[in-house]
Amino acid sequence: MNDSDIHKIYNWPFLTTKNPKLIMLQFKINHNIIYTKDKLKKVNLISNDVCHLCEREKHTIKHMMLKCTYVTLFWNEFFAWWAQITNEKIHLPDSVLLYGPVNLSKHNQVLSLALLVAKYFIYTCNLAEDPLLFSLFKSQFRENILTERYIAMKNKTARLFNVNGIALL
Ligand SMILES: [Zn+2]
Repeated sequence: MNDSDIHKIYNWPFLTTKNPKLIMLQFKINHNIIYTKDKLKKVNLISNDVCHLCEREKHTIKHMMLKCTYVTLFWNEFFAWWAQITNEKIHLPDSVLLYGPVNLSKHNQVLSLALLVAKYFIYTCNLAEDPLLFSLFKSQFRENILTERYIAMKNKTARLFNVNGIALL
């Protein structure tokens, strides 16, 4: 990875959203500073570092965001949903799911926001030890996109989250 790639990854959340929670989560992922159960066990804060969803594997960032059987199902649903609303069949490699940036879709801006919201959704479900309900993610995504549009209109910026042709609402 060269300096320009690192720069792109670092800037990606800032170019995508104004929501500090989404930006902060991506920053924590980039710097590997999310308090997953494996980390908490290492410092003796908890005694069990097993993922609450599958109850099989160690709870690491990669497991939580990519590898858990349940999160794999979530991402499959995510790609199916994306194909349904945009008519675009995409499949993103793990490295892009985890770090971004996205540049293969004509709806890059919306897809970037959807990915950040999806990761925040997975993260908060893990904190609460809740199941990953895709319908709940979709409603959080709608809320986020409406907020981004409102901010863009208020600031008269060019970031209008143009979703013509996407059946989001
Ligand atoms: Zn798991």
